[in-house]
Amino acid sequence: MGRRNQSDEATFTDNSKSARKAKSSEPGTYRLAPHSKSRVAYFHDEGVGNYHYGERHPMKPHRLTLTNHLVLKYGLHKKLEVFQPRRATDQEITDFHAHDYIDFLKRVTPDNAENFAKYFQRFNVGDDCPIFDGMYDFCQIYAGATIEAARKLIAGGADICINWSGGLHHAKRCEASGFCYVNDIVLGILELLRHFPRVLYVDIDIHHGDGVQEAFYTTDRVMTVSFHKYNGDFFPGTGHFDEIGSSLGKYYSVNVPLRDGIDDNSYIWLFRQVMEAVINTFKPSAIVLQCGADSLGCDRLGCFNLSIEAHGKCVQFIKSFGIPLLVLGGGGYTIRNVARCWTYETSILVDTELDNNLPDNEYREFFKPDYQLHPHLSGRLENQNDRAYLTRLKQRILEQLRYLDGAPSIQMQEIPPDIQGFLEDGEDEQREAKEDSEAHKDIRDLGGQVEVVGEWYEDDFDNDGDARDGESRGVLWRGEPSTPAESTDIDV
Ligand SMILES: [Zn+2]
Repeated sequence: MGRRNQSDEATFTDNSKSARKAKSSEPGTYRLAPHSKSRVAYFHDEGVGNYHYGERHPMKPHRLTLTNHLVLKYGLHKKLEVFQPRRATDQEITDFHAHDYIDFLKRVTPDNAENFAKYFQRFNVGDDCPIFDGMYDFCQIYAGATIEAARKLIAGGADICINWSGGLHHAKRCEASGFCYVNDIVLGILELLRHFPRVLYVDIDIHHGDGVQEAFYTTDRVMTVSFHKYNGDFFPGTGHFDEIGSSLGKYYSVNVPLRDGIDDNSYIWLFRQVMEAVINTFKPSAIVLQCGADSLGCDRLGCFNLSIEAHGKCVQFIKSFGIPLLVLGGGGYTIRNVARCWTYETSILVDTELDNNLPDNEYREFFKPDYQLHPHLSGRLENQNDRAYLTRLKQRILEQLRYLDGAPSIQMQEIPPDIQGFLEDGEDEQREAKEDSEAHKDIRDLGGQVEVVGEWYEDDFDNDGDARDGESRGVLWRGEPSTPAESTDIDV
């Protein structure tokens, strides 16, 4: 995929075209007036960057301090409404998570961990998800910010809300996973569902957004779309194209499995094609965008080739639809680039151009040797996603979307739905769905193209052999020493 064609380019730069197409006069559906500036709320806790997973652990909350620092030094706070969020309460967190799991997270500390050792396996804590000082406080901070941001959107107090400390998409109801303990995204979406009929979740982290997909696998009120590296082995091991949802949620999970080295043009082309179709079909009333920055080139754990500009174009494209938007962080392990990326994306959300030369700041040494907002990150890996593969992938996703009956006719509810009942229903349905998981294969019969499917499906999406296993507990980080290129990413 060497270049975009003319019409792709035109549509991408003239975003209003697709945005207009997605507009709806449906009651309760909110749209920004054309040309009006978005009101953007920014949720940042001053202390969130001071937590430490461990010296050699790749997850560095300090990246949040760096990001906020650049946002301030560029003066972007003048265009934002800045909030110090409150912490999520246990009650709010157990809207999704199991009580015994949260009780464990609250009580365990590095000092008393021995006493809890028998629970480690059950709750999946250990190397990837270590027990560190203030672990549950950290969770309450990032989850509280996401919940507050969702409520701000519901109240109509902002068009866009940003929480770079959120986006921890791997956490499950009863267990930690992939550096994530509490799934703030699920909590935020549950909050949005109290008011908005349909919520779209979009995930551009390099890892599959498995925790969010699983939570909403059986409902048609949440559509999840995840773009990620997939080979059946790469963490978390899920995200195959044929995970499409089940029961009422059948066809409402969209997975875009990608190979190593995807470049800017390919990614933007596919993202635009898929997301325009998804938004026009599903007609979301709110969107949650997880902006994991481990999909950037040169990420410590990633293997894509994206530039910060391309990553930001995805944000810009979603923004262009003018639908209430909750923007979250996520992965990102070369922290100087995470800070650059999320600062740049903040600027996009407030319609402000930034000088490529970084402003003077006390963390300047992190950004050497170029001291620029847009360092060269591409080209380290060969792009394994050829045009034929991406075109077939796009076609299959569009075929899946044709199975959606338009937007479900959910009435706006004055009374918040019974979230607990909603989740319990979902659990029953998920159990049934697992028994029925093989039935997903019917997607292969879509569109009367069985022969075509047979020709490429096995080769393209089943190249993982039998490695795919939604129950597996993969390891995101194998504790390798950091590479010399990461030498500036030390705990500070
Ligand atoms: Zn990730």
